[in-house]
Amino acid sequence: ADLDAETAALIARRQALLGPAYRLFYEKPLHLVRGEGAWLYDAAGEAYLDAYNNVTSVGHCHPKVVAAIAAQAGVLATHTRYLHAGVLDYAERLLATLPDEIGQMMFTCTGSEANDLAVRIARAFTGGTGIIVTETAYHGVTQAVAEFSPSLGPAVDLGVHVRTVPAPDSYREADVAGAFTASVEAAIADLTRHGIRPALFICDGIFASDGVFDGPAGFLQGAVAAIRAAGGLYIADEVQSGFGRTGDAMWGFQRHGVTPDIVTMGKPMGNGYPVAGVALRPEVVAEFGRKARYFNTFGGNAVAVAAATAVLDVIEGEGLVANARDVGAHLRDGLRGLAARHPCIGDVRGAGLFIGVEIVSDRAAKTPDPARTAAIVNGLRAERVLISACAKGANVLKIRPPLIFTREQADLLVARLDRVLGGL
Ligand code: PMP
Repeated sequence: ADLDAETAALIARRQALLGPAYRLFYEKPLHLVRGEGAWLYDAAGEAYLDAYNNVTSVGHCHPKVVAAIAAQAGVLATHTRYLHAGVLDYAERLLATLPDEIGQMMFTCTGSEANDLAVRIARAFTGGTGIIVTETAYHGVTQAVAEFSPSLGPAVDLGVHVRTVPAPDSYREADVAGAFTASVEAAIADLTRHGIRPALFICDGIFASDGVFDGPAGFLQGAVAAIRAAGGLYIADEVQSGFGRTGDAMWGFQRHGVTPDIVTMGKPMGNGYPVAGVALRPEVVAEFGRKARYFNTFGGNAVAVAAATAVLDVIEGEGLVANARDVGAHLRDGLRGLAARHPCIGDVRGAGLFIGVEIVSDRAAKTPDPARTAAIVNGLRAERVLISACAKGANVLKIRPPLIFTREQADLLVARLDRVLGGL
C-alpha cells in the first residue's frame, strides 16, 4: 500500500522495538490519537466510525467511566489482600445479573487469565483434564489457554487433551442443535477412548471467531447436557458476548436457556481499563479453594472495580442492552437490504450489536470468499468505517459497534458498505 512517510516510519520503529509477533490491522495501518463515543480520530484529525471495538463498549472515553477511574486513582489503588467494600459491592451487583446458581466471583486482569483460572478450577473439581472447544475458537494467550485456541493456527499445538468440534454453522447446517450435540458427544467419546477424563466444554456465547453463530436459540442445551453427563463442566466464555452486547440479555448464554458452571468475562467490563474475572457456582470452586491460594496483584484492585462499577451504571442508566437490541435489528435490516442487491452477501446473522455477514463467491454453493472479504474490510477503512473479519474461511464480516450506536450511525455504515460493494 502507498503509505505516507510518517506511517511508514512508525511501522519501521514498531517492528524494530516490539519485534515480529505483533500484527497490525489493515493494508494501510491506522494511527489513532483520540476517541469519543462511536468515533475514533487519526493523527490528521479524520473521523472513523468505530463498528468493531468491543472493549470500549459504552463508547470511547465515556465521561462517567473516565471520572470514576480518575477519582478512585486519586484516593486508593490497592489489592484484594486488604478489605475493601468496593469489590464486594461490585460482585453483588454483577452476580445479580447472572442466574441464581452463580453465587461467587473472582477477579483477574484479562480474559485469558479468567479462562486459565476457570480451567484450573474445573480440573480440580472434576479430576479430569479433557477440554472440548469449537474448531476456530479463541480463548486467550497463556500457554494453557492457547492450547485450546485453535484459531491461533498451526503455530500453536493443541494440547493432547483437547478435542475440537465444528462450529454450529446455521448457514450450512439444517439441524444445528442435533449436529452440534452429536459432535460434542463424539468428542467426549474420543477423549474417553484415549483414557482422558473430560473436564470441560467451553464456548463463547456467540461463537465470535467461528463466524458469529447466534442461533437457533437453545441449540446449546444438548451439548451442555452431554458434557455434564460425562462428569465435565460447561464454561461460558462471555469475554466477547457479555455485558449486553447480544441485545436480548446481559449474557450471551442466556439465549440458549442454559446455566453455566463457570462464566468468564473481560474486555468491555472496564471499558478500556483492564478488569476481568470468573463467576461461578460456589460448589465448583470449593475444592480448589481448599487446596490453592489465589492472589492476582491487579485483579479486583480498587481502580479496576471503580471502572467496572461505572460501566454497569452506564449500561443500566443509558438502557444500552435495549439499544443494542433495537439498533442491532435495524442494522441487520439494512444489511439484508444490501443482500438483495449484492449477491456476494450470503447470510446476515447475529444478535444485538454482534453481527456476522457471510461473503461468498457462489450463493448456491455457499463458497467462502476470503479475498473479497479482505477487500471489503480494507475498502470500508478507506471509507472511514472500522470492522473486521472472522471464521474458519476468513469470509465473515465481523461487525461489533459500541452499544451506544445510533440508527443514524447504522445507516451510515450500510450506505458506506453499499458504496464499497458497488466498487469491487
Ligand atoms: N475469550 C474470548 C472469546 C476472546 O475474544 C478473547 C480476546 N479476544 C479472550 C478470551 C482473551 O481475552 P484477553 O485478550 O483479555 O486476554
